[in-house]
Amino acid sequence: MLVQADALIESADRIHRPGHLRFLDHRILEVGSHLHPRPGEEVLKLPGMTLAPGFINLHAHLELAGLEGRLQPGKDFSDWLRQVISHLPELTPEKRRHSVLKSSQHALRSGTTSILSILSDPSTLAGLASTATRTWWALEFMDLHGSPEPVKLLDRTKAWLLRHPSACWHLALSPHSPYTASSELYRSLAGMALVEKLPFTTHLAESPDETLFVQGQPSPLHALLPSHLVRKDIQAVNQTAIGWCATRQSLPPFAILAHGNEVRESDMVYLKEKQASIVHCPMAHRWFGRSPFPYAQYRAADIPVCLGTDSPGGSSNARFDLREEACDFLHNQPNVDYHEAWKMLTTAPAHALQMHSKLGRLTPGGWADWVAWRLPTDQDPVEAVLLDRQAAEWTCVGGIVAHHEMT
Ligand SMILES: [Zn+2]
Repeated sequence: MLVQADALIESADRIHRPGHLRFLDHRILEVGSHLHPRPGEEVLKLPGMTLAPGFINLHAHLELAGLEGRLQPGKDFSDWLRQVISHLPELTPEKRRHSVLKSSQHALRSGTTSILSILSDPSTLAGLASTATRTWWALEFMDLHGSPEPVKLLDRTKAWLLRHPSACWHLALSPHSPYTASSELYRSLAGMALVEKLPFTTHLAESPDETLFVQGQPSPLHALLPSHLVRKDIQAVNQTAIGWCATRQSLPPFAILAHGNEVRESDMVYLKEKQASIVHCPMAHRWFGRSPFPYAQYRAADIPVCLGTDSPGGSSNARFDLREEACDFLHNQPNVDYHEAWKMLTTAPAHALQMHSKLGRLTPGGWADWVAWRLPTDQDPVEAVLLDRQAAEWTCVGGIVAHHEMT
């Protein structure tokens, strides 16, 4: 199929005008400004529109949209967690499934074609046959109440994936966080991620309560954990959660770390060594009233930072709209421009997933995951897409084209 639009954003620093894209099945064959139809080729003409790579959201909980508007925002992380725990029984597998479908549709309409979504309840997947976006299901594990069986769950989920070959689905592994997953569990999942070549993600260095916990100090989190829990891997050491991972060698290469709010300069060496990426969720950050995100520190140390949305239970971003996250981020970072923010939604997360040859830019050999935006074409298209709040009119995930009615 040949798509002919007014402009095409190949990447933040490469714009084609007009913008033409040729793809076959799920793969991009050519991009340029002067592609002509081949005999018998289907042509989609999109005047007034700009083609762009779909955004990649590396931290979301698609199954938790049912928590929207149910929880009080505030600085107290442990109190928020207590509220989440009290609402979890209401989130039946049916509600979670409904939430996944709706949330992935919202995400797609706002330009996101790939999501790394934490899956805390695998029964959500029963009866689910597709999502609007490409989805990496990050199987989440804790070992608060005995040892989980990650190999078994991974095998079951692989079999489920095989039953739905047309869905653009992938797997990932995720120990929840240092206060719910021991370093032994971290290491075992890190080993599995390496062997199985799966992305590894975890909530890390999110709150001061978590930092107190890894320092072996009294933390409000203790009140939420089982009273019989013994953590031999937590000692009285003045360290950050990333320092705890470094000492215990808990992370595999290319770890994707959600939040990274509580860091020190000394953490940068380990993050660099592990080629780790940070996922910052600006609107969740604001929701919790956190101290400024240490972006300058990461940038100076050349640690990639991506943007995510987290869950509508702890953010005002109920529609998983990464454009809003980018604008919120830019509001707090006057030294960062739209082009840098664009990379945080496209090429940086593609690299974090080790999918840079497939995702994040529109280039030959990449996957046909693109979005068509109706935009004034006399502006910088990168800035115009991020500032736009209209839904995308056309989307394509894995070569499957969808036209969306404009409301
Ligand atoms: Zn989260």
